[in-house]
Amino acid sequence: MQEQYTRQIRIPEIGEAGQKRLNNSSVLVVGAGGLGTTVLYSLAGAGVGTIGIVDDDVVDITNLNRQFLYDVQNIGDPKATIAQQRIHELNPDIKIIPYAVRFTEENAKMLLEGYDLVVLAVDNLSTRLVVNRACSLRNLPLVDGGIDGFRGYVTATQFNETPCLQCIYGDNGKKGNPTPGSLGAVVAVISSLEANLAILLLLGKPNPLASKSLYYDALNMSFDEIAFKKNKSCKVCGKLG
Ligand SMILES: [Zn+2]
Repeated sequence: MQEQYTRQIRIPEIGEAGQKRLNNSSVLVVGAGGLGTTVLYSLAGAGVGTIGIVDDDVVDITNLNRQFLYDVQNIGDPKATIAQQRIHELNPDIKIIPYAVRFTEENAKMLLEGYDLVVLAVDNLSTRLVVNRACSLRNLPLVDGGIDGFRGYVTATQFNETPCLQCIYGDNGKKGNPTPGSLGAVVAVISSLEANLAILLLLGKPNPLASKSLYYDALNMSFDEIAFKKNKSCKVCGKLG
């Protein structure tokens, strides 16, 4: 069973012990769209033992330029179910649990139960803030990434130590942002960074993006970091840490 992980066990920073940690880890991925595609493939390939997939959407033809989990045969089918099937074909040794629902304050407790870490792979701020609040109540590390055309970012929140997404974004999401344009190649970079970050945290490595976001400008092929401070009066994490 471990043979499939031979090449990553060979990485000194992972090794047998790190692989065991990954096999014993559980991650909830919120969103099975463009960002979710690479996050799910990467975590499943790495052998993360339990992966939950939250998405209430169905496959649409406009998804196929970037959501490479799906093909034209899947149009109209629930994404969570198809994603589970695809990921199972890649790695039948791990547990994959589809939740064909939208993540809300009401179902948050049920969805987060038993998971070690959450990866956000969504395109709207209101879901980010709902997930952020739910994770803060359980002190679950949260990886977030987003894209807007040729730009994207990734960050990771650990609630006792770093600013949370509410500190970073405020309530602007409630005003409703238009759905951004997105290109598969750019989405794959950002989601690969999200998966990389999630794997580091699962391995117990320090969070390289504590209190900052890594921004990617795909037109100029450049990366920048932007630092954030914890908002002491943040209504989510102001009383933590
Ligand atoms: Zn906060």
